[in-house]
Amino acid sequence: MARIPAICGGTPAFPAGPPPWPVDDPAVLAALQACYADGSWGKYLGPHCDRLRTALQRDLAIEHVRLCSSGSVAVELALRGLGVGAGDEVLLGGYDFPGNFRAITAVGAVPVLVDLDRTTCGIDPTLIAAACSPKTKAVIASHLHGGLVDMPRLFEAAKTHGLAVVEDACQASGAVVYGRPAGTWGDVGTFSFGGSKLLTAGRGGAVVTQRTDVAQRMKVYCEEGNDAFPLSELQAAVLLPQLEKLGERHGRRSKGARTLIEHLGGVDGFSCIARWPEQSELAFYKFGIRYNAPSMRAVERSVFRAAVRAEGIALDTGFRGFTKRGGARCRRSGDLAVSTEFSEQMLLLHHPVLLEPEEEIRRVAETIRDLAEGLRDGKYELAASLEATANDEERF
Ligand SMILES: *Cc1c(COP(=O)(O)O)cnc(C)c1O
Repeated sequence: MARIPAICGGTPAFPAGPPPWPVDDPAVLAALQACYADGSWGKYLGPHCDRLRTALQRDLAIEHVRLCSSGSVAVELALRGLGVGAGDEVLLGGYDFPGNFRAITAVGAVPVLVDLDRTTCGIDPTLIAAACSPKTKAVIASHLHGGLVDMPRLFEAAKTHGLAVVEDACQASGAVVYGRPAGTWGDVGTFSFGGSKLLTAGRGGAVVTQRTDVAQRMKVYCEEGNDAFPLSELQAAVLLPQLEKLGERHGRRSKGARTLIEHLGGVDGFSCIARWPEQSELAFYKFGIRYNAPSMRAVERSVFRAAVRAEGIALDTGFRGFTKRGGARCRRSGDLAVSTEFSEQMLLLHHPVLLEPEEEIRRVAETIRDLAEGLRDGKYELAASLEATANDEERF
């Protein structure tokens, strides 16, 4: 006898809700205590930011690392470092992190929307040529939802058209993209240490580059007076022990993702974004699942999401994307069909579950799959109150 879904009044499959983030980590506690003991928690300058910069330089094999206050600011600083400004255009995916659109307008430039490659969930390198005008100066390439942009081809297309590349690795700290650390293919790479990210200090970010001219322009912009967008000593201190564990956690999350894919498999309306290109290692910040309502007997994505969340699983909808933004704010290149599809279909499973034991991950996958099949086959009486639940945005 099948269980009654929580959304129909049954007991949630995971009554305690999703696993917490950040996770318990004695090394982080020790770092916090050490900061208290030596007073660095309350000082402008200390050893921790230097140590973090050095560790990132080493891990990424890159010359310049600028720590900053968020990933969003990192993307803006990257554009400023490249000298992008008023009258310039910057290419970005029609489906991307909302702050990236803002970063472009913040420097006075115009966003140009380019469609994604369906298989990578990243900007499509084959569409770069058609999107360029004489004003186009740069392209932002974001690794999203467990997908990786095809950076070798993107880089080549960008260079052919004289564009600088900003590689947004805010969701991909520690990933390897075709043999290189994520964030080091671009002229500039950006990272986030925000509260839900794989390396977290609640807030924070970094910009990395091999180009001295870019590093110098960012420095001049940030340090007229004091550093205007700083990362604090305390933030750097808690990031260091997490950086040491990142490789090991990636291994566990990757294994968890494979378990999830294996046990989700076989539902028509679903496809997972994750794909392992050659010489690459994925970082799972959000595990992307495309939800195709027509194959699901027209059960809306919001209903499916609400049903899964009611079970205590941290599933969210993806970005809104930019395809509905008016022509006065940006230029559009092509029909943006994939971006539109992604903005309508994307569901994101938050990463902490991927560190759970295999058995638990299997149960998450099976709960999601059973709900999908049950809803698709019209097995459940959905209450009239569903609308309210479907709009419950902030539970996790
Ligand atoms: C989170 C994120 C950012 C910005 O990070 P914040 O630190 O939250 O400002 C930028 N790009 C992408 C793709 C992200 O996921």
